[in-house]
Amino acid sequence: MKNCLECGEVIIGRSDKKFCDDACRNLFNNKINKDKTNLMRNINNRLRKNFHILSEQKFNEGKAKTTKNKLLSSGFDFEFHTNIRTYKNGSQYVFIYDIGYKILDEDFVLVVKKDSQT
Ligand SMILES: [Zn+2]
Repeated sequence: MKNCLECGEVIIGRSDKKFCDDACRNLFNNKINKDKTNLMRNINNRLRKNFHILSEQKFNEGKAKTTKNKLLSSGFDFEFHTNIRTYKNGSQYVFIYDIGYKILDEDFVLVVKKDSQT
């Protein structure tokens, strides 16, 4: 005897059924999709915020210098980024879309716009 994954009612019929009817199946799947959508929305928001914080730095010829603490206090989250680029000279930058950063010695962070590095 199996129970519907959505409503918990006992399922009558084929033993491989997971739901009592299409309505329950749809409800269940919609909830899963909603969770995934929420997860992606939250991550996208983190990325957008990180990008915004980096883009607000005072750039001079595509480069800006700040500190880890300043970024953190603006709400920057170092866990979220879109990609990592390693340049020919071996230096590696963490990117959020087209703005990257590199943690320098101490607390300093170098922020670069993609164009200035290529
Ligand atoms: Zn059901």
